[in-house]
Amino acid sequence: MTTVAVGTRAAVRRAADAAPVGGLWARTDLALVVGANAVGLVLIVVGWLGSSDALTLNAGVDWLKVGIVGVIFAGVCNGLFLLRGRRAVGLARRAVLGVPRDRRAVVVEDEVALVARPGSRRVHRPTCPMVAGKPVEAVAAVGDLTPCELCRPGVAG
Ligand SMILES: [Zn+2]
Repeated sequence: MTTVAVGTRAAVRRAADAAPVGGLWARTDLALVVGANAVGLVLIVVGWLGSSDALTLNAGVDWLKVGIVGVIFAGVCNGLFLLRGRRAVGLARRAVLGVPRDRRAVVVEDEVALVARPGSRRVHRPTCPMVAGKPVEAVAAVGDLTPCELCRPGVAG
């Protein structure tokens, strides 16, 4: 009985750790980026203190390398953190707009027909959320009309 409760609590904790905070990052992502920046900061401070005590230029350069490694480490970790957020934005965008992962299927579908709202000069793919549920007219080609910036008709992939 106690084992089940502990297991359930651990599962809840894992789910809470994986849950997005603010919609973009999970708690573990935030913890990892804070930890990585702390490590980078420690390397920078160690390099700074080491180079200030160095008696020769070569020893100072060696400590400088430690600081540079700290800057690069923190920068790479921050970049990966931002890429995770960018990925979350892409997944949310797909979920909201209903964009399929394989864009080739959309291109084949759009070669069949383009649509425009009556009286509008903006051309959309039939699956564009900007025209979803609205009255549209079929358009043969983009021609002189303005392609929609969201669904980008006539642009492959
Ligand atoms: Zn559109």
